[in-house]
Amino acid sequence: MLLLFLLSLAFLSLGILTELERRHEDVQPTGGSCPACNRPAEAEWLLCPHCRTLLKETCGSCGRQVSAWHSFCPDCGRQRCAEER
Ligand SMILES: [Zn+2]
Ligand SMILES: [Zn+2]
Repeated sequence: MLLLFLLSLAFLSLGILTELERRHEDVQPTGGSCPACNRPAEAEWLLCPHCRTLLKETCGSCGRQVSAWHSFCPDCGRQRCAEER
């Protein structure tokens, strides 16, 4: 009876481990797509390698690098508005 209990415990922990591994895969950086050419681009890239569009801009308020597909600065909430350019 104890063996059965241990066996089920082992199966349970195995299930939790595989679940954690699956979640870890989900965390992999997916980035986004280039706003100009819509091709996939990694979030940490500064320029799109396909069309050389700037993917990151420096926030005029706090100086943080903001991805081009973010409409707001994640740090200070300042909107990246087009009228500045
Ligand atoms: Zn592009
Ligand atoms: Zn900011």
